[in-house]
Amino acid sequence: MTAPALTDPSAGTRPPRPYQHYVYAYPHKTAYRPLEPAPRLADLWTGEGRQALSLYAHIPFCEVRCGFCNLFTRIGAPGDLTRRYLDALERQAVAVREALGDGEPVRFANAAFGGGTPTFLEAGELARLCDIAERHMGADLRAIPLSVEASPATATADRLAVLAERGTTRLSLGVQSFVEAEARAAVRPQRRADVEAALARVREAGIPVLNIDLIYGIDGQTAASWRLSLDAALAWRPEEIYLYPLYVRPLTGLGRRRAGAAPEAADREWDEQRLRRYREGRDHLLAHGYEQVSMRMFRRADAPPQGPDDYACQTDGMIGLGCGARSYTSTLHYSFDYAVGMSEVRSLIDAYTVTEDFSRAVHGRAVDGDEARRRHLLQSLLQAEGLPVADYRRRFGSGPYDDFPAELATLAGRGWLAEPDDRDSGRLRLTAEGLAHSDAIGPDFFSPAVRAAMAAYEAK
Ligand code: SF4
Repeated sequence: MTAPALTDPSAGTRPPRPYQHYVYAYPHKTAYRPLEPAPRLADLWTGEGRQALSLYAHIPFCEVRCGFCNLFTRIGAPGDLTRRYLDALERQAVAVREALGDGEPVRFANAAFGGGTPTFLEAGELARLCDIAERHMGADLRAIPLSVEASPATATADRLAVLAERGTTRLSLGVQSFVEAEARAAVRPQRRADVEAALARVREAGIPVLNIDLIYGIDGQTAASWRLSLDAALAWRPEEIYLYPLYVRPLTGLGRRRAGAAPEAADREWDEQRLRRYREGRDHLLAHGYEQVSMRMFRRADAPPQGPDDYACQTDGMIGLGCGARSYTSTLHYSFDYAVGMSEVRSLIDAYTVTEDFSRAVHGRAVDGDEARRRHLLQSLLQAEGLPVADYRRRFGSGPYDDFPAELATLAGRGWLAEPDDRDSGRLRLTAEGLAHSDAIGPDFFSPAVRAAMAAYEAK
């Protein structure tokens, strides 16, 4: 199956569809390809900054497969699969650390365990994961922000105790909805009482930042039921709340149910419904003391700072460990092969667990000067605080209006861009409506080559 088109064919005659592509990383993994010949990590990292790296570990296991999820994960881990996975992750850590060398000190500015569901691992396995990050990679987990994703059922007291003790500063709980019928409709059945009990355990563990993920646009969700979930989340006064629009993507549980495709009119209606829920959610959180950080992210205005974090995602390098983790140097983004369908995911995980040689990057995409500009602009502009023009100019020697005149004029014409008084300084910021349409804005800045690669990607 081919990935969906990135732009609405009717673009130009009416406003673009608001929910096209969530740009959490650019270029997207579907634009990665096998690297031939596969470069040695030691060569790739020569000359790269290593004073403020980010460390990410990917744990590709979940107890259920949520209907909306297109992440690289599988249900369950038969036999000793989690042990074999951690064995491979340790071998990879050793190889990567060796490739970084000792010529210059290596320092991690932050760390994250994501998935999948990292807390699918048992308490002892989580301790081992922290050991790998500390002993093999040299990350000082207790001194830097450490974020971990969890599901309600796996956020058990013993696991949370290990994570808190090892320095976790942020625990993100994927709740999605406090309404049981909606959770079932999203193919993530869970009882509200179990969710509330998990939230109580997270608070008891004393991890400083609690994030709650909620989803809008679920079948059967109304303004009233959405408000119920928002209020149930607010009752915990979480330091962060993420509001995600529901997407139905190829090869996911909901995608398979919808095969046959809804007519255009139904999709337009669903877009409108999601925009309404977004605005209701945003306004409700703003009225309850939260600040908007991006289209999805809201932070409690009086939440304590998370400690030192001098990692700048636009520029600094990332080391990813695990079969779905990305790594970034200034010129190459790389990972392993990627899949969403169950049997492909299982075989890729199996292949990872038997890999002995982790000394090369095997799958990825080169990031040249043009792509680096696009990435910098996307990762700044889609944040509420916007893009400091001087930073962009300092890094690239030209301004965003020099590099993206047509795209920025289109945004301004739609009322989505608050232009700075001075185009050589100040900040480029999205308006409130611009932020609401972040998922329509992002694809406009993809390069033709990345678009073509994403369109040609065969989902598997
Ligand atoms: S949404 Fe989270 S818990 Fe659900 S299947 Fe995806 S990774 Fe697992």
